[in-house]
Amino acid sequence: MAKYVYFFGGGKADGNESMKGLLGGKGANLAEMAGHPELRLPVPPGFTITTEVCTYYYANKRSYPAELKEQVETALTKVEEILGRKFGDPQNPLLVSVRSGARKSMPGMMETVLNVGLTEKTIPGLIKKSGANERFVYDAYRRLIMMYSDVVMEKAGGIEPKDEEGIRRQLERLMDSVKKAKKYSSDTELTTADLKELCGAFKRQIKKVLGKDFPDDPLEQLWGGIGAVFASWNGKRAVAYRRIEGIPDDWGTAVTVQVMVFGNMGEDCATGVAFSRNPGSGENGFYGEYLVNAQGEDVVAGIRTPAPINEYSTSEHNKDLTTLQKGMPVLYKELEDYRTRLEKHYHDMQDIEFTIEKNRLFMLQCRVGKRNGPAAVRMALDMLNEGLINKEMAVLRVTPAQLDELLHPIIDFSVEKDHTPLAKGLPAGPGAASGVIVFSSNDAVEWAKAGKKVILVREETNPEDVDGMRSSQAILTARGGMTSHAALVARGWGKCCIVGCSALEINAGKKTLSVNGKTYKEGDILTLNGTKGYVYEGTLPMIDATENPDLVKFLKICDSVRRLGVRTNADTPADARRARQFGAEGIGLFRTEHMFYGEGSDEPLFYLRKMIMSKTKEERQKAVDELFPYVKKDIKATLEAMDGYPVVIRLLDPPLHEFVPRKKEKLEQLAKDLGISLEELEKRAGDLHESNPMMGHRGVRLGVTYPEVTKMQVRAILEAAAELLKEGKKPYPEIMVPVVCDVNELKNQKVLVEEVYAELLKKFNLEKLEYLYGTMIEIPRACLVADKIAEVTEFFSYGTNDLTQMGYGFSRDDIGGFVPDYIEKKILPADPFQTIDQLGIGELIKIGIERGRKTKPSLEVGICGEHGGEPNSVKFCHRVGMNYVSCSPFRVPIARLAAAQAVVEQE
Ligand code: PEP
Ligand code: MG
Repeated sequence: MAKYVYFFGGGKADGNESMKGLLGGKGANLAEMAGHPELRLPVPPGFTITTEVCTYYYANKRSYPAELKEQVETALTKVEEILGRKFGDPQNPLLVSVRSGARKSMPGMMETVLNVGLTEKTIPGLIKKSGANERFVYDAYRRLIMMYSDVVMEKAGGIEPKDEEGIRRQLERLMDSVKKAKKYSSDTELTTADLKELCGAFKRQIKKVLGKDFPDDPLEQLWGGIGAVFASWNGKRAVAYRRIEGIPDDWGTAVTVQVMVFGNMGEDCATGVAFSRNPGSGENGFYGEYLVNAQGEDVVAGIRTPAPINEYSTSEHNKDLTTLQKGMPVLYKELEDYRTRLEKHYHDMQDIEFTIEKNRLFMLQCRVGKRNGPAAVRMALDMLNEGLINKEMAVLRVTPAQLDELLHPIIDFSVEKDHTPLAKGLPAGPGAASGVIVFSSNDAVEWAKAGKKVILVREETNPEDVDGMRSSQAILTARGGMTSHAALVARGWGKCCIVGCSALEINAGKKTLSVNGKTYKEGDILTLNGTKGYVYEGTLPMIDATENPDLVKFLKICDSVRRLGVRTNADTPADARRARQFGAEGIGLFRTEHMFYGEGSDEPLFYLRKMIMSKTKEERQKAVDELFPYVKKDIKATLEAMDGYPVVIRLLDPPLHEFVPRKKEKLEQLAKDLGISLEELEKRAGDLHESNPMMGHRGVRLGVTYPEVTKMQVRAILEAAAELLKEGKKPYPEIMVPVVCDVNELKNQKVLVEEVYAELLKKFNLEKLEYLYGTMIEIPRACLVADKIAEVTEFFSYGTNDLTQMGYGFSRDDIGGFVPDYIEKKILPADPFQTIDQLGIGELIKIGIERGRKTKPSLEVGICGEHGGEPNSVKFCHRVGMNYVSCSPFRVPIARLAAAQAVVEQE
């Protein structure tokens, strides 16, 4: 018989940590915490219904497998036996929570129902059990009614609220009117009589609006809750979140039914959230918040300001509140002991939820805690030092996206110190951001679409805000703690975020924000320092954070693990130097043509144009000779900046018409210098026109037609190297021929290279000058004839931009018109120009490497297309046995990390 229900509790569990796919992250964790001999923590007993049931539910018109009912009942009986209480028993009732849990955490995106099992019949029993705490029981009952009517009866029942106001909001308004009439300022002032009356009013409202009675049968409540959790997997919020996070729809959610423990039965009760290390900085300090006499949702909701669990967790906002360590020292000690056990067991930082019921500590949940980039790096380094993990594990602890956060800008200290923050809040997401303020998720999405950098300002965020949060540079809230929704989501995404900035008075209706007597409106600019929690008016200058010593150390560890080399694509000496700071081990692509753009390019561009417009060999030779010193100078400076490291210099690649001047005065000047009429020049320019220049007269084809152009470039490269050698430097130039489809092209060019080389040795009186001769592999045919090509080359460098273009037949400059549609319609899983299409283009790459190395085992193989800095593509390059990847300077650290991860993941 298929097993759909997994029990846990009483020091035992059917499942364990490795069963996340089946039990969801939460279910697997509870099983591990409850049942693993190293842990056996006090987890309230319960059971998990598997994700397979979710799949079944959707495949079978929202029904369940026949065996489920009996399995649930058996598990429920076991739970009852452990506690000596019964579900639905009038004397000694048991309440349960019904929660969602997918393989990967989706914070707040699915539904939960608490206090299930509370009915007219069980209320008196629970009152007795709670020490005659009638108020607590009716408060639990009104929470159940509010949640259940919203989640189960309305949402899962498929009822569209009239006037856009759902049942929950209506019930909240009923409660607000009681509070107002009695002049209460908080929910806790509601008396037992108020609550009793409210429960009655709630039920009448439910009947009136939803046309059904609130169920008074515990089992009906239980099955309603289970169904609502499954239904919420396909709710709007959950689907939107999955799209953003790339979570597959067919994973499904598990449902965990667990005995309720109460943190709100009195002053000897509490509930809290803690991290075994600081998720904001990565420091090895126990960090958490808690609330006395409260239910779990109260901590996350940000309605009351939570107190710190210990001295270490105190901040400006909570420093006057009693810590758990002071208020309940014995329980704090117990909690701290679990913290140590959990870290030892999981070898990672844990995010823990706990509840104290009548001075008894229960562990409700633990999972690997989300952290920002700087914290991830810090923890990896610390845990390695502490011997908790080895260096291979350390390398896997930081995702490429987290590493990217460390490369993000921060506010220039020297300027920041002269500015007074407008307001201070909690530093929930690191880094800094400037942007225009907006006050709703929709506005954030709209403004971002219009190209604005926005900061989303909210009283507090809720799961409905995810799209807007995603579109924003940063998030700022007036309420909430470090574990509030905004903080959790922002931290997960590595986004700059400040929460709990209580000095802000936000009027979302009027779209204004007031602080210290000043008012800011939608569109005004603020700057946030998410690392400190400071908000500033206007734009402050940013600097990059590459000199972070943690980053340097961490990347050194990556370097000791990886086997793939990491080079950079750099076209200027300045880029080359920056890339060296980022750890590049050479240049994988120096695009010669870039010296004709940008600053100081006027003169070389003029001579290049002259060369292009030449008609006769003599004319061209003259222009080439004039161009030569500029080319040599640029190459020499770059070789010098990369002294001791290889530099791949590519011969002129683009179609020539790109360099034809358009302005009349430029044309006139050129005509004059060439000694021809303007008409003649315009005719020559017209002759250069091609219908399909990407596949026209470019790359090696230019070198074949105009050998003098190749020779000039080769001379520039080798002379620059020879001069550097004479100056005591160590240049390693690699001459690369682009857009090759056949070995004969390379043979043709090689004759020219060797001719120049021989001349050079003579001229510089050298016996030998080290250089490599190689080619780009960027035309599909080149992959297939790689065995022949390797006969005359010493290296291949994959130009995956063109290889993708020509492999797909997608013009790389025109994909904007259709590739987004292809992705949206799931024709393509991703943009193949961003991440290597391993299935097709990857196969071409593999064939090329295999055939090339068959001819020449020592063949050096690299990649210099844009994919060389994309983590998944880097891992692919490792697996297919390349020697190096090459990418833009800013992606070098990411490539170093991905290359190290590739090694560990493969082992
Ligand atoms: C390529 O085609 O991948 C490449 C690196 O060359 P370019 O982008 O200059 O065509
Ligand atoms: Mg190319």
